[in-house]
Amino acid sequence: MELTGWVKNYDWGRKGINSAVAQLAMANDPDFTLNEEESYAEMWMGTHICGVSVVKETGETLDRVLKKDLPYLFKVLSISKALSIQVHPNKCEAERLHKERPEIYKDDNHKPELAIALTPFVALVGFQPVEDIRDFIDEFQPLSKLIGKEAVDKLHQSPSSETLKLCYEKLMNSKEADVAKCIKDIAKNYQRELKFNELLNVFNKVNADFPGDVGVLSLFFLNLVHLQPGQAIYLGANEIHAYLDGDCVECMACSDNVIRAGLTPKYKDVEQLIASVIFEGADAGRKLFLPYHIDENVQVYVPPVDDFAVIHVAIKHTVENYKLQIQPYGSILITLEGSRTLRVNTSAGPKEIVLTRGSIVYIPVEAAPEIEFAPAEDCGENFTCYIATYNYFRVA
Ligand SMILES: [Zn+2]
Repeated sequence: MELTGWVKNYDWGRKGINSAVAQLAMANDPDFTLNEEESYAEMWMGTHICGVSVVKETGETLDRVLKKDLPYLFKVLSISKALSIQVHPNKCEAERLHKERPEIYKDDNHKPELAIALTPFVALVGFQPVEDIRDFIDEFQPLSKLIGKEAVDKLHQSPSSETLKLCYEKLMNSKEADVAKCIKDIAKNYQRELKFNELLNVFNKVNADFPGDVGVLSLFFLNLVHLQPGQAIYLGANEIHAYLDGDCVECMACSDNVIRAGLTPKYKDVEQLIASVIFEGADAGRKLFLPYHIDENVQVYVPPVDDFAVIHVAIKHTVENYKLQIQPYGSILITLEGSRTLRVNTSAGPKEIVLTRGSIVYIPVEAAPEIEFAPAEDCGENFTCYIATYNYFRVA
């Protein structure tokens, strides 16, 4: 079944044709009209109630056709302005938060997520080693002043998860006016130090997008990570993060639960964030999430949860037919470049679909044990697609 994704126009998305989401939506749907002034932030593929995919042939929604929900939600993101500093609750917390405040926490599921860069991609991921945070606080005196002598002294006496928590809590609970003053002071008097620490550009950009927001000061606490296309990060429950810039494919458990604490006009739940977040420092290098290679055409990103895995298929134009072994779970495929003829078994017999950039296809349970990528007519280019599926790699 060929699908149309659900496009979301959040303010942080890239504008017009510069957005990968807009480009893919245009290629996917001849009825899509591009507005150059509009931000195109996300395309959702799956059965989540807030953006369910539509079956092209019949106009029905995917959840109705499948008569169930998929365990995962698959997305393309195109970011020009930072997304909020956030964590996602674990399953237990999600159930409680949804019960207590359903207007904010919309479902009762956890939301571990995996982001794979499509273009150079910048994100904040997890806390830096506590000693590095201590050194930043020493170097940037307005920050030290804002956090206060008592907490900073404790951090010096013993750099640990507890003293990190103490300092971050002080920061996040500071008065808005004091935070804004601190940021102004750093922006004015610490250009050289920011530059030396390779934070100048990102500090200025985040501060321009969210002037005076406490999230700007999170740059001194969190790991700044630069991903190249194909590199990935995995965010488990309660790992603090914020995406800052670039395009990615993202896969997550089917949920929209976000606890926000900065860089957002949306509701900030600082108390819940402090209660949930894991205060553990680690090197940025440890945040890269590596796929494993099945062969020279395919690699798989296998997170430590059952809900989803992502298969990256990249077939050179010199390769004839390529057969991919799959298990009997429903999957969603999105084509990024090139063209191939997909051969799939369905309940109605064998089927062929020509895949081109923007094609989104639901691969049914009956397609197992293999699907085939045959050369398409003018197959001069290499072919790339991503497939989201249930994490049978982990079960096996
Ligand atoms: Zn997130």
